[in-house]
Amino acid sequence: MVELGEADGGMGMRERCGVIAVRSYGGRDVGRMLVEGLKSLQHRGQESWGVWSPEGFAFRRSGLVSHSLEVYLATVPNGIKSGIGHVRYSTVGGEGYIQPVEVGGKLALAHNGTIANYKQLAKSLGLRGPAAGSDSIVAGHLLIRLVEGSGGDWVAALARFSRMVSGSFCLAMALPDGTLMAARDPIGFRPLCIGIDESDDTYVVASESCALDALGARMLRDLRPGELVVLSDGGVENHRFSEPLGKGVCSFEYVYFAHPSSVIDGVSVYEVRKRLGRLMAGRLHAEADVVVPIPESARPAALGLSEASGIPMEEALVKDRYLQKGRMRGFVEPDHAVRAEVARWIVPVKRAIEGKRVVLVDDSVVRGVTARIVIESVRRAGARSVVLVSTFPPILHPCMMGMDFPDREELIAHRAAVAAAARGGTLLEEIAREIGADSVLFSTPEDVAKAIGKKESELCFSCVTGDYGAMMDLPLGIPRKEFKGV
Ligand code: SF4
Repeated sequence: MVELGEADGGMGMRERCGVIAVRSYGGRDVGRMLVEGLKSLQHRGQESWGVWSPEGFAFRRSGLVSHSLEVYLATVPNGIKSGIGHVRYSTVGGEGYIQPVEVGGKLALAHNGTIANYKQLAKSLGLRGPAAGSDSIVAGHLLIRLVEGSGGDWVAALARFSRMVSGSFCLAMALPDGTLMAARDPIGFRPLCIGIDESDDTYVVASESCALDALGARMLRDLRPGELVVLSDGGVENHRFSEPLGKGVCSFEYVYFAHPSSVIDGVSVYEVRKRLGRLMAGRLHAEADVVVPIPESARPAALGLSEASGIPMEEALVKDRYLQKGRMRGFVEPDHAVRAEVARWIVPVKRAIEGKRVVLVDDSVVRGVTARIVIESVRRAGARSVVLVSTFPPILHPCMMGMDFPDREELIAHRAAVAAAARGGTLLEEIAREIGADSVLFSTPEDVAKAIGKKESELCFSCVTGDYGAMMDLPLGIPRKEFKGV
């Protein structure tokens, strides 16, 4: 069993959030749908969740959806026809920061993304205290101000909003009159899609298509970057508040964050991961006896690598599913000790490893703590050699578009680059040395783009390249805590 002294419990970063909006035109009670949809988005945020309905209901809790599901079901009134919901990773700031947030009794908002320049915006809006406490709350105040300034025109307001904010946003919004809205930023960093259950004319907008599947809704399409969908008493409308701008969806969504069953912008996440594994097989020159995925999200890539290389795959690292924390995704845990607990329950299967040359497959290496701990345990289980394959390229830079990477100094690739420059070695040699691998192999942006089936220029790789394109006022190096107020 892996014993940890220090761990990031997986990715060494925390994820963003998941949003959902459901409106039924056929009289369906959507109270249960909202919570079921949030359960299917739980991988996007595990520490708090909430539901808000214009029909006078709000529910916010810390922890997993399942932890307070019974209370929710006992509380939610029957007959709710519309609502929005959110799963989030952090609760440290208290329930006031759990989304959906309410802004001045005029708007409820669930936000997936990061508004990097929110402090400047808060200042220009004259916001102080809790009203200036997080990027999502400031975004809500800004939107209200812009809507009021444009005579209630949400399209015009979002057009101005998108020009004023730096960062990313997918928004699920609800107005007191029952109108729901969903908007995707003009670059389309984060996924957002819409579906319908035709049996009762119920529309679902969600961060990922896995939520539509969970609710039995048929996927209609992804929201286009710069698109607003309105679900009002008058029916369903879509508007363009901005032309699509620059680079597109986060490449990391495909490689790690999104659920493997999801389809983003027409591309299957599972298939991308498997194709990446196949591509990595072509670049793996080490002799090996067994391919082992680091659970959970590296499995499709390991399978692809195994199939393409002919090296058998073994599930030789097992997450203990009988322990609560073993089931959770480590990287969405904000507390270091909890992340350590999550990683502690990655258990090596000695019989599948002993005496073998092992290729470990992971989706990324961020701090490198988990990789080091897992490699130690695989060696203790008797591996003859260990090569680590990462299907995402080395992460050298912070993300300003909604991903909570550690500070730059905590990124193993950044540290390794500094050490390589000082010692005259290579980045990969330094990473291998630090995590205790015989060697490491990383994908390139070209590999990832090829696996996704898009051009590199259509995807975001800013955390790999350090090229933030047209983003303005980048407060580089500011930790997420400052963005989110927690
Ligand atoms: S910087 Fe990295 S994590 Fe952030 S949106 Fe771009 S690819 Fe995704």
